[in-house]
Amino acid sequence: MVRAIVGANWGDEGKGKLTDMMAQESDIVIRFQGGANAGHTIVNNYGKFALHTLPSGVFYGHTTNIIGNGVALNIPVLFNEIKSVVDKGVPMPKILISDRAQMVMPYHVLFDEYEEERLGKASFGSTKSGIAPFYSDKYAKIGFQVQELFDEENLREKLVRVCETKNVLLEHLYHKPALDPEKIFETLMEYRKMVEPYVCDVSLYLWNALKEGKNVLLEGQLGSLKDPDHGIYPMVTSSSTLAAYGAIGAGIPPYEIKKIVTVVKAYSSAVGAGAFVSEIFGEEADELRRRGGDGGEYGATTGRPRRMGWFDCVASKYGCRIQGTTDVAFTVVDVLGYLDKIPVCVGYEIDGKVTTDFPTTQLLEKAKPVLEVLDGWNCDIRGIRNYDELPENCRKYIEFVEEHIGFPITMISNGPKREDIIYRESRLSK
Ligand code: GDP
Repeated sequence: MVRAIVGANWGDEGKGKLTDMMAQESDIVIRFQGGANAGHTIVNNYGKFALHTLPSGVFYGHTTNIIGNGVALNIPVLFNEIKSVVDKGVPMPKILISDRAQMVMPYHVLFDEYEEERLGKASFGSTKSGIAPFYSDKYAKIGFQVQELFDEENLREKLVRVCETKNVLLEHLYHKPALDPEKIFETLMEYRKMVEPYVCDVSLYLWNALKEGKNVLLEGQLGSLKDPDHGIYPMVTSSSTLAAYGAIGAGIPPYEIKKIVTVVKAYSSAVGAGAFVSEIFGEEADELRRRGGDGGEYGATTGRPRRMGWFDCVASKYGCRIQGTTDVAFTVVDVLGYLDKIPVCVGYEIDGKVTTDFPTTQLLEKAKPVLEVLDGWNCDIRGIRNYDELPENCRKYIEFVEEHIGFPITMISNGPKREDIIYRESRLSK
């Protein structure tokens, strides 16, 4: 059986924690898209980790952790990450890398930097990990798959060809030093040594594993609103963040995905530019940012302060729908315990009309939040394990959100640790 864990919002919903938790009952955990441009934060018995490329199943001895073909694989970053995990006492995880995964090339990172520099104020707020140039090259058919490392002759030739076009841009658009294909070749030979023991035909491996009845977990990065098709284009990421893409980015039949756990955060946060309707500012935002997540809402990869906002029913309803949600995991609810009153965005006012349907980017820019204010519960709910033991106003908040998004909240996360989870039956469950 295949389950997916994905985000409904702008990312940072707490997917890492849920994956770490659900990995316990999984044989295989797969990253199917994205690269080292976003991070998952995981707190467990070994300590606190920010994973960018490794699947969040690496903390269990029984899981196989896979980098699927849909990932933007930065090989040195992956290996540094493995080292940092092992250095903290985690046993060496079992890792497989798809022979069809493409590699982030050293120049992808450079082009990302140069382009953001060129755009200046109009920049995308990229993490400069090379992800956009990587996916551009992939679809322009000048990317490099891992398997190409093993054919030196063709690799050399292709590098010369690719560098020719790259160097025109470097010289005339960015005014930066040219690339030397031979140097890149040498770097790639280093990469080859690193990945060689792990490379395999992942889709075949998974086909056989599914036939044997293995439990597979797809781990998504970022959230619905960052999807290049269904998100807030162009302020999106460069690969699909949707569960459906799990089938492609891992190489499994789409009908195998039986459960889609969509992680929804109890308030909003976003990184990068783009419309963010329920955004709050000033002291109100600072306090939520300080208290948010586990130690504040700052980027796991960049350390950048995240933009903060109240819970957005419009964006979350859409985010859940577009994922094909079977279950909602509602996270970081504990953080809201300091508020007397909790505003929730229940609609968008656009050109004088109120809607609860998430619009396209042009209209989104004009949207103003319609807020409804709920009573807070004013206490610490960490440590509670039964839904009925939550304060009444907290349950009301959860049920209000469930009503507005229209998808069953079956899990509530009330702390950063694995065991901080409350299971709940929802009348919306099928
Ligand atoms: P991801 O990219 O979706 O995995 O999200 P992050 O790694 O950015 O996770 C958000 C942060 O919230 C991390 O610091 C987690 O440790 C933390 N976190 C996850 N769930 C909860 C929760 O229920 N309560 C609190 N207080 N923190 C949580």
